[in-house]
Amino acid sequence: MRIECVTLREIHLPLVQYFETSFVRTDVRKILLIQLQADGVSGWAECTAPENPYYCHETIDTAWSIITRFIVPFILAEQIEHAVCLPRQVKQIRGNNMGKGAVEAGLWDLFARCQSRPLYQMIGGTRCSIDCGVSLGIQEDLEILLDKIDKELAAGYRKIKVKIKPGWDIAVIEKIRAKYPKVPLMVDANGAYTSRDIDWLRQLDDFNLMMIEQPLHYEDLIEHAQLQAQLRTPICLDESIRSYYDARAALNLGSCRVMNIKLGRVGGFAQAKRIHDLCFVQGIPVWCGGMLESGIGRSHNVALSTLPGFTIPGDVSASRRYYQEDTTTHPIEVSPQGQIQVPTGPGTGYEADLPFIDRVTVKEEKFWRNGK
Ligand SMILES: [Mg+2]
Repeated sequence: MRIECVTLREIHLPLVQYFETSFVRTDVRKILLIQLQADGVSGWAECTAPENPYYCHETIDTAWSIITRFIVPFILAEQIEHAVCLPRQVKQIRGNNMGKGAVEAGLWDLFARCQSRPLYQMIGGTRCSIDCGVSLGIQEDLEILLDKIDKELAAGYRKIKVKIKPGWDIAVIEKIRAKYPKVPLMVDANGAYTSRDIDWLRQLDDFNLMMIEQPLHYEDLIEHAQLQAQLRTPICLDESIRSYYDARAALNLGSCRVMNIKLGRVGGFAQAKRIHDLCFVQGIPVWCGGMLESGIGRSHNVALSTLPGFTIPGDVSASRRYYQEDTTTHPIEVSPQGQIQVPTGPGTGYEADLPFIDRVTVKEEKFWRNGK
């Protein structure tokens, strides 16, 4: 296939409500969208890099630079046999997974659309619907959080994930468990603790949590292994897993018993699938995390979540929880049973809403084959 045109856009989408983790509060999501055109068809993807380098080293600006300087010239000059070939073709570029992953995901969508096949089937997905959970940020006070949990459970969501940090942890979880003794509940610290907090974190064992996500520093697999050995509750790794090699090291060391696979963080579908397959043969359950994606990125997460090892409800939830208007013509919706029906149309099965995208675009750059 010959890619004829690549368009990068930066859009700004205000969140319905700010989202706060242990390290940052986000009010407006600045998102890099990529559109790849060939044979009159467009493939779309979203780069999950945030606007600041606090979740990982990449930002929307570094991704823009890597994509435009090192990936776009290549894909416009070469014949692309299949999306599956891209990771090998750009492997010279170290790191920068979110940039590489965005282009790869766009190519997958484009190839699937050109072949009139659903993306989820092309990647080996087996589910017609996926189970959904929600991720709840740090709130002003506990009552607000409890109200939100009420609302999400009433909407049908199958897993409640609560962000924690020192000062917003044990007492909060204790109150949630007192009110909801049986609800599938997990916590995510985004690396806010250290090995000095092991005794403190062991208190979380009292609350029958599904898992504790990324309690310690993202580079420290050894300390996670030491912590896991002292906890009954499974540890799930997120930020620590940037590649297949990280995943393999984490499993060999015993650093976790669950893995959160994010498409952008690991550099696209090929890597995500490789990590999924590794976990699958070892009986390690995986689930799909979120990066406050708009509909386009969310639709790729829906496809990823159809792989057989994604047995735990992910953070893939309804568009309207995040954005009043979205980048797809049809918002991603969750049934009262807490599931998303996987669309069977070509590509992701969701269509980009170009007039809306144009309205929220603050920066655009287009590249043509032969510099047209
Ligand atoms: Mg996380």
